[in-house]
Amino acid sequence: MRLSRYFLPVLKETPSEAQIVSHRYMLRAGMIKQASAGIYSWLPLGYKVLKRIEQIVHDEQVRAGHIPMLMPTLQSADLWRESGRYDDYGQEMLRIKDRHDRDMLYGPTNEELITDIFRSHVSSYKDLPLTLYHIQWKFRDEIRPRFGVMRGREFLMKDGYNFDLTKEDALHAYNRHLVSYLRSYERMGLQAIPMRADGGPIGGDYTHEFLVLAETGESEVFYDSEITDLKFGDRAIDYDSVEQCQAVLEEFTSRYARTDETHDEALFNLIPEARRRNARGIEVGQIFYFGTKYSDAMNATVQGPDGKATPVHMGSHGIGVSRLLGAIIEASHDDRGIIWPEGVTPFHCGIVNLKTGDAEADAACEAIYAALTALGLEPLYDDTDERAGGKFATMDLIGLPWRITVGPRGLKNGIVELTSRRTGESVELPPEQAIERIAQIYGKAV
Ligand code: ATP
Ligand code: MG
Repeated sequence: MRLSRYFLPVLKETPSEAQIVSHRYMLRAGMIKQASAGIYSWLPLGYKVLKRIEQIVHDEQVRAGHIPMLMPTLQSADLWRESGRYDDYGQEMLRIKDRHDRDMLYGPTNEELITDIFRSHVSSYKDLPLTLYHIQWKFRDEIRPRFGVMRGREFLMKDGYNFDLTKEDALHAYNRHLVSYLRSYERMGLQAIPMRADGGPIGGDYTHEFLVLAETGESEVFYDSEITDLKFGDRAIDYDSVEQCQAVLEEFTSRYARTDETHDEALFNLIPEARRRNARGIEVGQIFYFGTKYSDAMNATVQGPDGKATPVHMGSHGIGVSRLLGAIIEASHDDRGIIWPEGVTPFHCGIVNLKTGDAEADAACEAIYAALTALGLEPLYDDTDERAGGKFATMDLIGLPWRITVGPRGLKNGIVELTSRRTGESVELPPEQAIERIAQIYGKAV
């Protein structure tokens, strides 16, 4: 993309309504614009990152054997009356009437709709196990929407639902989700720690929230510092293997890590004092096993091997896709702007022309741009005639992890400059080598 033809409405001033750094940078970098309280338009740069995060979530869900689909945002109240949640949900649910005076709602989640799909089409245990998911907008009329996309009213969520014959099978689905979530967050350059959470009215031990540590997080967390050394990395996993998935769960959840809702001071104090941590975190996902709660209420049964109707065991599993943009920025920025991890960056690399209009500089930039594009990469080429300082400031603000700087003086010696946004380190090298480095970083063969 050439910046001269792009839509990147960067703000010079820091918007006063933004209280935390991710919100400030998302507004300043022209990623989002508030449409009304807690509801945002996704401008091109923000939309690009949102799509990259969404794609990682899709990849990892499909890898785990989960099946993508799409349910609508507007739902009929009838199913929610059946489950009893139409009354229970309270004011967070946006209720709407259609022209025939029928009660509708903008879905805050989809357990009812998916259970209805399931019971309409699945009748035998032979069709299990089954895990369906979608990535769809949700609406919750939060009492205090704030922090930009972190606590919106309209937000994008991946929500998945597993249907299994037995509790054991459903717990395997739970574990599969835990593994796939660990992989997803790591690909986004994030460490998200599974913490034992509150089962709410359903109770039980089978729920974990994934938290990104950040001072601005809304959750108070307590954990054993050893847990931050754990990495899933690129190890191979067989998602069909009950033992392998269970082993990952044990590895990542055996140390103390809890949100304040389930915090147990006595247990916490058993950790050696030097390893006890009390901090804040951003919830970026939650997994849940809830047994037959919805299948009982909505009569979702299958014929078991013994021929008897058996209610299915279910779980639901969410990732806060739009909140993740904020969480990643909170975890990765400096005082000049965002620092995107390579896994989610909106453009792979920036190209800064120090002297637009200089024939040699223009030609060198065009050649680099063409070469990177041919490799299947997306560079953002600043071909505007803004002065160099302004170009650098914009690149730093929008946070592309790599920048190639091209100017007449360097070109006289056959070199350009390659700069890492994260470390600030620059190396001078011939354009072909800069291209090679970028290709290598993103796993492209030159
Ligand atoms: P919270 O406690 O933050 O209100 P929740 O526990 O009610 O969230 P879940 O039902 O677990 O949310 O939804 C799954 C994920 O969706 C959450 O882990 C979070 O990342 C994201 N999410 C929930 N509410 C919002 C919101 N208002 N804005 C943006 N993302 C949200
Ligand atoms: Mg939650």
